[in-house]
Amino acid sequence: MDPLFRNVSAIQERVRAACARVRRSPDSVRIIGVTKTVSAERIREGVKAGILSLGENYVQELRRKAEALEGLDITWHFIGHLQSNKAKTAVQWCRWIHTVDRESLARELDRQAQKTSRKILVLLQVKIGDEESKSGIPAERLPELFSAVEALDGLQVRGLMALPPYEEDPERTRPYFRTLHRLLGHLRRQARAPEDLTELSMGMSHDFEVAVEEGATMIRIGTALFGSRSTSA
Ligand SMILES: *Cc1c(COP(=O)(O)O)cnc(C)c1O
Repeated sequence: MDPLFRNVSAIQERVRAACARVRRSPDSVRIIGVTKTVSAERIREGVKAGILSLGENYVQELRRKAEALEGLDITWHFIGHLQSNKAKTAVQWCRWIHTVDRESLARELDRQAQKTSRKILVLLQVKIGDEESKSGIPAERLPELFSAVEALDGLQVRGLMALPPYEEDPERTRPYFRTLHRLLGHLRRQARAPEDLTELSMGMSHDFEVAVEEGATMIRIGTALFGSRSTSA
């Protein structure tokens, strides 16, 4: 059997176990297959194995693969740092954008989305625990960014995303996941439509179980699905 199928069931099983520990329904966790450096042919196998939500970090790479895989029932998520001049292509191919971290980007995404007939679902990326990172809005400025994006008709804010600093021991990442969850609660109190704010995109191959225990609804999984990128690139 293709190891991909085994990887998918192993991850699903680990998600189920993590959900059981905190009495959540496993249906509330979406596994996003992160396909950077993974070939379109390999991705096709992933889709057969049941991974229908896919995430890419680079717009050009996403476009190339999305074109190659057109016709499959894939939902594309953009999860990398997004430059405003790539907003148009991102909107063309993606249903979800996880990395809205500034108002100028949101406005450009909105402008592009308004030209199409559908809303783009967005997450606001928060900088937590990593002052070095250039991506993400600092938590104290999140309410202000949220108000601005909430007012844009072409976008629908659905939650928050974070990429905390790498820790060997996933337990050390738990406080960051908890912080993101708490920030989502604060935004709900501020939101005009709090029921839309349901998503927490957090957790990767080495720490997704902790993320699920802390409320993740979208886990972004690359290597645990497709294998190590240094060999698959
Ligand atoms: C690469 C990447 C992932 C997946 O990382 P793995 O450790 O391979 O699971 C998740 N999120 C983002 C933003 C990434 O760039």
